[in-house]
Amino acid sequence: MTDVLDHWIDGGTAAGTSTRTGDVFDPARGVVTKQVRLGSAADVDAAVASASKAFTDWGQASIARRQGVMFAFRELLNARKGELAEILTSEHGKVLSDAAGEIARGLEVVEFACGLPQLLKGAMSDQVSNDVDVYTLKQPLGVVGVITPFNFPAMVPLWFFPIAIATGNTVVLKPSEKDPSAANWMAALMAEAGLPAGVFNVVHGDKEAVDALLVHPEVASISFVGSTPIARYIYETGTAHGKRVQALGGAKNHMLVLPDADLDLVADSAVNAGFGSAGERCMAISVVLAVDSVADTLVAKISDRMATLTTGDGRRACDMGPLITREHRDKVATYVDLATEDGATVVVDGRDPQIDGEPDGFWLGPTLIDHVPTTSRVYTDEIFGPVLSVVRISGYTEGVGIINAGPYGNGTAIFTNDGGAARRFQREVEVGMVGVNVPIPVPVAYHSFGGWKASLFGDAKAYGPHGVDFFTREKAVTARWLDPSHGGLNLGFPQHD
Ligand code: NAD
Repeated sequence: MTDVLDHWIDGGTAAGTSTRTGDVFDPARGVVTKQVRLGSAADVDAAVASASKAFTDWGQASIARRQGVMFAFRELLNARKGELAEILTSEHGKVLSDAAGEIARGLEVVEFACGLPQLLKGAMSDQVSNDVDVYTLKQPLGVVGVITPFNFPAMVPLWFFPIAIATGNTVVLKPSEKDPSAANWMAALMAEAGLPAGVFNVVHGDKEAVDALLVHPEVASISFVGSTPIARYIYETGTAHGKRVQALGGAKNHMLVLPDADLDLVADSAVNAGFGSAGERCMAISVVLAVDSVADTLVAKISDRMATLTTGDGRRACDMGPLITREHRDKVATYVDLATEDGATVVVDGRDPQIDGEPDGFWLGPTLIDHVPTTSRVYTDEIFGPVLSVVRISGYTEGVGIINAGPYGNGTAIFTNDGGAARRFQREVEVGMVGVNVPIPVPVAYHSFGGWKASLFGDAKAYGPHGVDFFTREKAVTARWLDPSHGGLNLGFPQHD
């Protein structure tokens, strides 16, 4: 009998009503380690009812009280992050150091949420008319829904729920069913930090639970992160049901390498950003656009570095772990054949890697494909695995043209020592997050994270100032404290005197 992971509703675990469950794997061993409940609409109803009830009190809680919980959560998370990293590695497969990095970036958002009193301050205009002041309040939305992907089971939920809760909302999180345990662990830690029951709920599940959240009349907003087709669906369905929606989608991120770049830095960066977390990052670099004159040298430097990488169980001292499921591993591997069919050159084939781990794990080694035509599915698809493509270009203009012609606009990077070229790139490229000699330009927590085009549906990015605006409604108050001598009828539109 394997363990069953329950939902977290109203301050504790709850089995719910659904009888459906899903397998949770240890991808490095290829075995099922537990079952996760796949929630029904009734389970979502129960979580929303708890969140709705909790909002009555939490929505009115003082800033000091909310901030106190956030500070306590920050301390607990920091002290116990090693436990969480082990959970991430056991269900996602990423190596422990990478899991620790994910938590560190999530902690940044918790720290940002600790400083929310500063960001919740409204604006005040004194004496806009005689005895009249105007000021703004930022108030919570109510019950907010958060739906997250498998690739960052801690960090992506942490992009949203600390800000949502610190701004006075109550939350129903539907994490990925592939690596669900981190969500319960964080919910229990929030309770330990003093969060009242019902403020943070976790409903596990798949499309059924997501659909129930999307149409629930008491859910005010949806924050989604996942693949582009689902993000589009979430945005369209959620907005059609009157919700505020931010839906972050997939990506295909390019690194543009100009001939004057430091090619050793470029090769290190391409390998780190291409193969970290086995390429299962929405900010992974999946395409290197290399100017012809330096492409041969660069490909040689990248493949030399790849030869030093170790693939294996993330609990051991490896560079790269397994992929999330066997199906995903097999799908990613098919791109190597596709590359050959499309006339590209497979420089490093990761399909039969040396492994420091169990043979049944979902293994695929780092793969490098050169001379990739931009018409090939190797180029056009979001592969989401350890496959790095090199597209050869004539120069800057062709490179930017290729990037801007793509459907996604999540992240990109330019590598050059020419400040003018870098400046031109950051202004011309149609992408939401840009690195200059930085391969993974994930903004710090006090800026906001989000792409353009098919990488983000909706107006609000994640966390930072956008996160605060997304989770609050602004109210403008025009107030006059009357001098008793004022008064009299005037049916005209109010003007200032
Ligand atoms: P996914 O779209 O398959 O799943 C995301 C969430 O949607 C999960 O909670 C899942 O249960 C739910 N879901 C899946 N199918 C659904 C359906 N038919 N109807 C309703 N809900 C459904 O994504 P994933 O495979 O978990 O994650 C990888 C994807 O996420 C990649 O495309 C990656 O680029 C993207 N991603 C984007 C960002 C970003 O910030 N833009 C960050 C991380 C991941």
